[in-house]
Amino acid sequence: MQARFNAIWSEITPKLQEALLPYISHDDFPAMLTAKQVESIKQSSGLNDHALALSLLPLAAACSIAPISRFYVGAIARGESGNLYFGANMEFIGVPLQQTVHAEQSAITHAWLRGEKKLASITINYSPCGHCRQFMNELNSGTQLEVYLPNRPKLTLADYLPESFGPRDLTDTPLLLDTINHGYQLATDDELVQTALDAANRSHAPYSQSHSGIALQDAQGKIYAGRYAENVAFNPSLPPLQAALILMNISGGNCHTIKRAVLVENESSHISQWNATESTLTALGCTKVERHTILK
Ligand SMILES: [Zn+2]
Repeated sequence: MQARFNAIWSEITPKLQEALLPYISHDDFPAMLTAKQVESIKQSSGLNDHALALSLLPLAAACSIAPISRFYVGAIARGESGNLYFGANMEFIGVPLQQTVHAEQSAITHAWLRGEKKLASITINYSPCGHCRQFMNELNSGTQLEVYLPNRPKLTLADYLPESFGPRDLTDTPLLLDTINHGYQLATDDELVQTALDAANRSHAPYSQSHSGIALQDAQGKIYAGRYAENVAFNPSLPPLQAALILMNISGGNCHTIKRAVLVENESSHISQWNATESTLTALGCTKVERHTILK
């Protein structure tokens, strides 16, 4: 079992421990459970979907990296596929707080990067902040997304975000987690560049058209891709680097071991991810950062 789960393992009931062990005991446990695994765990633990997600929160929160706040937030996103995706907050020393990742953003982006098409619910160990409520409103689940918290009744995003402003207030706007391919091309046989290009092609940037993606390679040679997730209210937008760091962290990787990073972004758009990407990666100890541009 990954070391990060050891400290909180005793918070899991013995029955659930037994049900989880076949999956979580592997060092490469991806911090997600497939629908089939979820069914098996529900059967042997006697928990329903809601109770299981709540019981998994300590494991999700154990993935948190919060050297500034020491406030460890965990989230479990449940896809319509039945898969469960862990998420946790992330803070970075040496860069502005705007680079911070919230647990809800982590679980949602985790699900998106693993190919989930729509979310049914999210379960969190603390009430979602205003930033996250707006971030969640970008999803194709809409305000019907179910939001669960410990010791609270089932509510929907509509309850947490009344009088909302969202992408549906604009016409013909694609929504976060909708399948999309922008069709950019680059002539390259560099795997990292190709991975970043694929991510840019699936990025969500309907307001600025600043499609971007990134690929990170760690010391072990593992590659993690991240896509830009733009928000209708602009500020809650999640940069591609943060998306890739979410996947890296949640998969058990170490964000301080990135050896090479490639950002691919649309050359003709109004905004650029480059400066923030380079400075955050430098703060994480990665000095080999490249930018490749694409054009429609
Ligand atoms: Zn938040």
